[in-house]
Amino acid sequence: MTTKIPEVSSLVQEAAAAFTSQYGGQPSVAVAAPGRVNIIGEHTDYNDGFVFPMALPMVTVIVGRKTESGLCRVKTLTDKADKPFEVEFPAPSSSKPLQPSKPSWANYIKGVVTCFPGVVSGFDAVVTSSVPLGGGLSSSAALEVATYTFLEALTGTKAKSLKDKALVCQKAEHDFASVPCGIMDQFISTMGKKGNALLIDCRSLESNLVPLSDPNVTFVIINSNVRHTLSGTEYPTRRRQCHDAAHTLGKTSLRDATLQDLEKHKGSLSEEVYHRARHAISEIQRTEEAVEVLKKGDYTAFGKMMTDSHNSLRDDYEVSCPELDQLVTIATECPGVYGSRMTGGGFGGCTVTLVKRENVDDLIHHTQECYTGKATFYVCQPAEGAQVLSL
Ligand code: ADP
Ligand code: MG
Repeated sequence: MTTKIPEVSSLVQEAAAAFTSQYGGQPSVAVAAPGRVNIIGEHTDYNDGFVFPMALPMVTVIVGRKTESGLCRVKTLTDKADKPFEVEFPAPSSSKPLQPSKPSWANYIKGVVTCFPGVVSGFDAVVTSSVPLGGGLSSSAALEVATYTFLEALTGTKAKSLKDKALVCQKAEHDFASVPCGIMDQFISTMGKKGNALLIDCRSLESNLVPLSDPNVTFVIINSNVRHTLSGTEYPTRRRQCHDAAHTLGKTSLRDATLQDLEKHKGSLSEEVYHRARHAISEIQRTEEAVEVLKKGDYTAFGKMMTDSHNSLRDDYEVSCPELDQLVTIATECPGVYGSRMTGGGFGGCTVTLVKRENVDDLIHHTQECYTGKATFYVCQPAEGAQVLSL
């Protein structure tokens, strides 16, 4: 079934009504920050490579009001978070720094409140979201970036730059949620622009918008609705293997290596590490090339690179799973599909497919007929990054 993506205004209304019944009175501030999908460039961030995400029309909304109570009170409207859904914690001060605790969902907010450069005297807030939690579309970064944007609007202290803002949100996730994430999610949620994807150089932290607003094509994100437990344990192993491969090749990171370098050192690498490095090196190169062909409007070449990316993640990096492979195979059989790949860390979560708009229904129907699991569909064009909304 295609998921109807709620309007941002209806999320704001829902949150404002909940605010009134929870705290009384009206909120004075409303903000939104989007989830994201990575179109190409997977497992390249920790290899100093390129990633190419776009912001989604699914967003996290926060409405709220400043208080002088010294207390931060927050309620989330999603029942997918861990209980309790309401929390209360003191506004941080140098003598009483906040610590991560239960419920875990509030740690993303506490982390940003702690790392925020302005003075937070207290607030009441309600959070709601159309980004699926834990589905690989980065509800966590959407929550962090929404929190930062909320605090900016509440205190008048603006981040020096969007890059600084994204880095603070990343630090919050590292320190308070203990997730050693890269920079992609927070960058795109902060810097996304409607009708554009964002090419991010994970080494220099430079980023460039790339127009992607042709009404004749669209992305369809398909949630496999599976998550295999391997995802937690395999990630550090892949990171270490890439690090070891770079070391053997005499490079700082695999960003500096070519496939020729890799072939030269093949004898000094285990079969497995060789394949891991081959994915990382080829994917970094593929991402740069894909953006170039996209700029020329060559969707056929771009789509082929998306599918090549999937095959490399499946065969060399071994982070796919039968469900994701099945979804990609089904998609590539459909008319009007340019390319399809798993997106995110792997072992479950979503695929992303570039398709002619006129063939979206064919893709959805064919997937519903053939996929052995239960898929959810989101038809998405690149959307806007974090913003303050009018109430
Ligand atoms: P992803 O970022 O792919 O959605 P993560 O595991 O990184 O998955 O982050 C999901 C977690 O973020 C949730 O389990 C919850 O703790 C927190 N979270 C995200 N959005 C919300 C929300 N709207 N309300 C409460 N918690 C949220
Ligand atoms: Mg996340």
